[in-house]
Amino acid sequence: MGKIHILEEQIANQIAAGEVVERPSSVVKELVENSIDAGSSKIDISIEEGGLQSIRVIDNGSGIDKEDCELAFLPHATSKILTSKDLFQIHSLGFRGEALPSIAAVSKMSCITSTQNTGLGYQIVNEGGILKTIGEVRASKGTDITVKELFYNTPARLKYVKTIQTELSHISDYIYRLALAYPKIRFTLTHNGKMLLQTLGNGDLLQVIAAIYGRTIAKSMVQVDCSNLDYSLRGYIAKPEMTRSNRSAISLIVNGRYIRNPFLNKAILNAYHTLLPIHRFPICVLHIQMNPTLLDVNVHPAKLEVRFSKEKELMMFVEQELRKLLQQQILIPAAKEPK
Ligand code: ADP
Ligand code: MG
Repeated sequence: MGKIHILEEQIANQIAAGEVVERPSSVVKELVENSIDAGSSKIDISIEEGGLQSIRVIDNGSGIDKEDCELAFLPHATSKILTSKDLFQIHSLGFRGEALPSIAAVSKMSCITSTQNTGLGYQIVNEGGILKTIGEVRASKGTDITVKELFYNTPARLKYVKTIQTELSHISDYIYRLALAYPKIRFTLTHNGKMLLQTLGNGDLLQVIAAIYGRTIAKSMVQVDCSNLDYSLRGYIAKPEMTRSNRSAISLIVNGRYIRNPFLNKAILNAYHTLLPIHRFPICVLHIQMNPTLLDVNVHPAKLEVRFSKEKELMMFVEQELRKLLQQQILIPAAKEPK
């Protein structure tokens, strides 16, 4: 008699959840990214107790069709890609179809969604990966997802969760990056009822920078706007006198996706070269656009890491363009100083 058997779906989802749902901020990330993919212009995020008690994300996006509601909670169910060819041209933040089933496997989740302005929609309640109820409810267009008691059924995972303050800082850090990546979306973030971020959604990146880093910093940023055949580079970089003690104020957004990349960080630091004091780092928000075929985003489950097919060229471009700008600042510092 053989000893191998295929695991039941619920336990398989719980295992997969370990990869996707590391901590409360992973849930927030996945839900808000789904809201962005759904074309929302307004996303409200409310968190209770660092996300351990509750995480709620309300958007005004496309909503989920009735017949898709149950499907959306199944592993590898996605509306975003169809064939393996699509993997090489990803236009959405999600594509793995893993988030909803993974989150549901380790929490108590409710999703209210509507694709129309009729005032009617559907609610689906799933606890620990088990469908509890599905039915018609009153709902406005968009999706309203609440995740309660995260890791209630995986005590081992709960042990790794840090203090409420630490979990909250992971959440707010990621929401700040998404707000910087999507200045056209109106974001609000509240924790235990206290408003932590509110953006206008008017497309003005500098306004988002002001909401996150303060008006003084925003006013002294230098605008970046350049392109070559492969890449366009837009955003703001701080003058060398506005520094931080670590790299965390460097936000890299590639094709709308916030990413971390040591090579791009290095290109930016090289551009500042000797202008920065030792152990000090710049504040910068850079949007890099490129043809999706030049980018592999399927490297890491959280998709925070990507691979560039022409890495060296991209680094050179970023370094040279930013250096040019910074040199202009040194030559004519007074001309650009705000009043
Ligand atoms: P993925 O984002 O990789 O497709 P998810 O598990 O995150 O996988 O979501 C599954 C599907 O559910 C999505 O492909 C999308 O069709 C739908 N969905 C999830 N969240 C939303 C939302 N906020 N608005 C509209 N559709 C959503
Ligand atoms: Mg998703």
